[in-house]
Amino acid sequence: MELEKNVIQDVIANLSFQTKAFIGGRTLSALSGKTFSTENPATGQPLADIAECDEKDVAIAVQCARKAFEDGSWSRMSPADRKRILFKFADLIEKHEAELAVTESLEAGKPITDCVTIDIPETVGCIRWHAEAADKIYDQISQTGPDNIGMIVREPIGVVGAVIPWNFPALMMAWKIGPALATGNSVIVKPAELTSLSALRIAELSAQAGIPDGVFNVVPGFGETAGRAIGRHMDIDAVTFTGSTEVGRMFLQYAAESNLKRIVLECGGKSPQVVMGDVADLDAVASNAVNCIFWNMGENCTAGSRLIVHKSIKDTLLEKIIALTAEWKVGNPLDPATKIGSMIEKPHMEKVLSYIEAGKAEGAKLILGGNRVLAETGGYFVEPTIFDNVTNDMKIAREEIFGPVLAAITFEDEAEAVALANDTPYGLAASVYTDNVNAAHRLSRALRAGTVSVNCYSEGDITTPFGGYKESGFGGRDNGIHAHEQYTEIKTIWMQL
Ligand code: NDP
Repeated sequence: MELEKNVIQDVIANLSFQTKAFIGGRTLSALSGKTFSTENPATGQPLADIAECDEKDVAIAVQCARKAFEDGSWSRMSPADRKRILFKFADLIEKHEAELAVTESLEAGKPITDCVTIDIPETVGCIRWHAEAADKIYDQISQTGPDNIGMIVREPIGVVGAVIPWNFPALMMAWKIGPALATGNSVIVKPAELTSLSALRIAELSAQAGIPDGVFNVVPGFGETAGRAIGRHMDIDAVTFTGSTEVGRMFLQYAAESNLKRIVLECGGKSPQVVMGDVADLDAVASNAVNCIFWNMGENCTAGSRLIVHKSIKDTLLEKIIALTAEWKVGNPLDPATKIGSMIEKPHMEKVLSYIEAGKAEGAKLILGGNRVLAETGGYFVEPTIFDNVTNDMKIAREEIFGPVLAAITFEDEAEAVALANDTPYGLAASVYTDNVNAAHRLSRALRAGTVSVNCYSEGDITTPFGGYKESGFGGRDNGIHAHEQYTEIKTIWMQL
């Protein structure tokens, strides 16, 4: 689907945001009556005032979720019936694709073309995929003697908290709720405070689809209050989180200090793009490399922010990357031609700009961009930025920038390439480019990352598990059948015959 400019204007003219919490099947103000304001980061103008849920609202959501789980209206529904309702849910999201895409573009500064062609369709596809799996996963029977039967069954874990980031608001929520709902759990979502609107609208659609009251709840609010309350609640069985490593650590603490709830973390990265000297088609590498770092403004946990390139081809590759970057137009996110929208908020833009200053101060060579642009719009735009002569000990090579900033680092041989690529506390994703099939196998095994894409930039798709090694992840995977594991308990039923 593509959206023409006039269609976008029509959608905006008819937009009315759902700004209340969604708890127990109803839209509710926060108990405190408080709201917080969200803005359009492409203009700096306020967009909506949203219910500011805190610990008390989370407690009610947990009560509703628990009640729904215990009454079995969803948790013990036949998987085929859950599938039917989840299909309807996905259909409704699809029906509202244009509205949701525009909402996300307005609230997150994301290019509308990406919202319409990637974020919302993949949200729909994710819910459908897990729904389809609901009645196709079998349990097991162990090898016992004739006098016993040992059944190994999977059961929903119970009440799941999902704490969501702002970079792919609907899609990251779908990655969590798709498998959690398909396996029969009740879910409480806390969206990022900067991007709550699509989650709140999708919650309304869940009720229309027939998901029973209390099974799917959304509590907008701040991390330090609503997020923390989810982490520390004694009656939440699991939390799935995507966001910074710093907050991920807090969830482990929350769990340790409360009920030892299961914690699943997906926490950022500093992904290497390793380009070996034997690659003939450097145009293809450049095209992938540009997409890998500038897609979603670099506000992407798999952004390939370190270009680790053989010194013999570095200059040629950088020339090609710079030439292709010219096609990555920075501009109004609602313009279908825009490829780079605004940073999510002013403090984040300032953080990205401070990394650029750090790169210059530490002696890296700025060869493209480096500035805030379009300041006259009131929005928080940063142009695509490339540094050459980076060493792996520099701040821009070590810390997650989460912006459109690429750092080029050279190597002389394969061993050095691997050492540089793995010299990071993160391990979410990596790309390898080589024309040598043996090197492709060696490197994809040697790189310590949850996803390694070879001769392309890819996160895999809904069929493949997604998550990190090292400080990029903990406790489970999103996507694929593996995602169902984090939302289920294994029970052994041992029978004497
Ligand atoms: P956070 O990790 O702070 O936010 C992620 C989610 O956690 C949000 O819903 C947030 O709520 C919530 N949260 C924040 N603080 C707490 C807390 N003390 N207890 C419980 N929940 C909390 O990410 P930021 O938005 O601050 O971004 C900071 C950096 O994190 C980025 O620059 C980037 O490096 C990384 N990041 C990585 C992402 C990824 O995809 N792995 C996604 C987003 C960010 P609230 O929005 O209210 O703060």
